[in-house]
Amino acid sequence: MRSATAAYCLLAALIGPASAAAADCPGNPGALGVSRTIAVDPTEHPLLGAHNYRESLPLNDHEIVLTFDDGPLPPYTSRVLDTLAAECVKATFFMVGRMAQGYPHLVQRAHAEGHTLGTHSQNHPFTFHKMLVEDAAREIEDGFTSVRTALADPKGVSDFFRVPGLLRQDSVEQYLTAHGYMTWSVDFMADDWRHIGAREIIRRAVNRIEAHRRGILLLHDIQPATALALPQLLRELKNRGYKIVHVVQAGPERPKTATLPEQWVVRSEQPSIWPHVALVDLPLPGPVLEVPNRQIFASATARVKMVPVALSTTAERPRSGEEDPPSPAVALWPRGVKVVSLSDPEALPVPAAENFRYSRVWRVRNAERAVHKPPAKKHVVAAASRRDGLSMSTPRRVDGLAPPARTSTPNPNLPATFRQRPSGHQIQLPKPTAGLYGLP
Ligand SMILES: [Zn+2]
Repeated sequence: MRSATAAYCLLAALIGPASAAAADCPGNPGALGVSRTIAVDPTEHPLLGAHNYRESLPLNDHEIVLTFDDGPLPPYTSRVLDTLAAECVKATFFMVGRMAQGYPHLVQRAHAEGHTLGTHSQNHPFTFHKMLVEDAAREIEDGFTSVRTALADPKGVSDFFRVPGLLRQDSVEQYLTAHGYMTWSVDFMADDWRHIGAREIIRRAVNRIEAHRRGILLLHDIQPATALALPQLLRELKNRGYKIVHVVQAGPERPKTATLPEQWVVRSEQPSIWPHVALVDLPLPGPVLEVPNRQIFASATARVKMVPVALSTTAERPRSGEEDPPSPAVALWPRGVKVVSLSDPEALPVPAAENFRYSRVWRVRNAERAVHKPPAKKHVVAAASRRDGLSMSTPRRVDGLAPPARTSTPNPNLPATFRQRPSGHQIQLPKPTAGLYGLP
């Protein structure tokens, strides 16, 4: 009987009062509210969040913890606090020390409205994964000092810390754990720091929550889109049956919530909409390949004959000097092959000079230059064009000079192929050797 009573008490502690705060939300009877509050001891579970660790908060199905990073920053943090107050929802704020120094009234407001305050370093450097632990310790402690000073109540700040950018490293985690801090990672994010719109923030947050159905959601109260998205996001969570859990630090006045160790273990739940792959041991037949025949190698025609040849079976490596030790002979692969020779090879005609069309480009210009001495004007224009970086094919009119004639009188002494001016795009080709012009 005593054991049954104890089990009932534990169960009641785990479940907590059912949405009492939601029903008591002034002016909003349909508010989302807080379904229960859990008190945690940072020294018992120092590393939280499935994104980085094996443990996360001991949440039940359809329970969400809201966290906001990087603030406070008006007017967005104020808007977020307004929305949370309207829904009677409590969240955890991981504040940056420098921001808390700048806007202490928002630190005080968040605390006065019942939210949990953690810290997020002093300056939010994105080097926590590689900085010296001494530097990380300074960032951590300065952040706590700034937020506590802004609040003017050291006990009002929980020993909850989130690494900037979630850029963890072992030495920093060891420092945090040794000093009694609880390092919070996340279970899912909404990507609201990626400058996406409010609608997309809601879509990503809901999709990822639905995929895991419980966990810590990361948001940023300094983002305008997050402040805009939050009312609709909270309504969407309520419509889908989700409940908000508030997390506080256990202390002398608030004993820790009774939990079971396995509740802290991160579950790898698969989304219900995704098909599961069942690994079964079926006796599948092994692959069988046919024995290859000669047709496969395209050599089994009546017009070919097989000629046995042999390759050298050994080869010597080149030696760079007398002092090198002799290298062992290397056997070539394969040792002997058969090559196929065509008994009636198809003969191709010898190519004519006209097949090399590019040779006429040079030939025409050279031949015409040799026969017709170009006028002096052309050299002037060409030189001016070259200076200006213009192409030779686009001569430009120079003051007092007419542009050179594009066509000249065909030389009757040249072959017909030479009188044909090449058309289309002309490219600069390297001058071939004289042997190519040995035309008949
Ligand atoms: Zn951050």
